Amino acid sequence: MNQSKVGTKKKASEKTYPRPAWVKKSIVAEEELCPDCFKVVGSKSRYQLVCMLGKSDGMTVTELTKRMKLTQPTVTHHLNTLRSVDAVESEDRGRERLYRLNRGAHCFDECKIPF
Ligand SMILES: [Zn+2]
Repeated sequence: MNQSKVGTKKKASEKTYPRPAWVKKSIVAEEELCPDCFKVVGSKSRYQLVCMLGKSDGMTVTELTKRMKLTQPTVTHHLNTLRSVDAVESEDRGRERLYRLNRGAHCFDECKIPF
């Protein structure tokens, strides 16, 4: 029987995306981003949320909405996108949901997106 080697095969779905125009080289040096990182920095507001969460121990949607000057549904939408790539974690605190940056996420740990 053939023993298959683990980790040598490249995933067929590993597409890359060009770095969005608003992301300066000083923030992210890579010209091509993996799909997860592209989602994280794909919108300026979304990346601002990442940086805000990175400087805190966790914030609620209400707190984030106040600081961002965006509507709550917009903030929630961005947070869901970030959660879909594991960039943030959430925890229920009574009626509120607390969001935290997942510092060990692929984008921060491996691709070194700063926050
Ligand atoms: Zn990445």
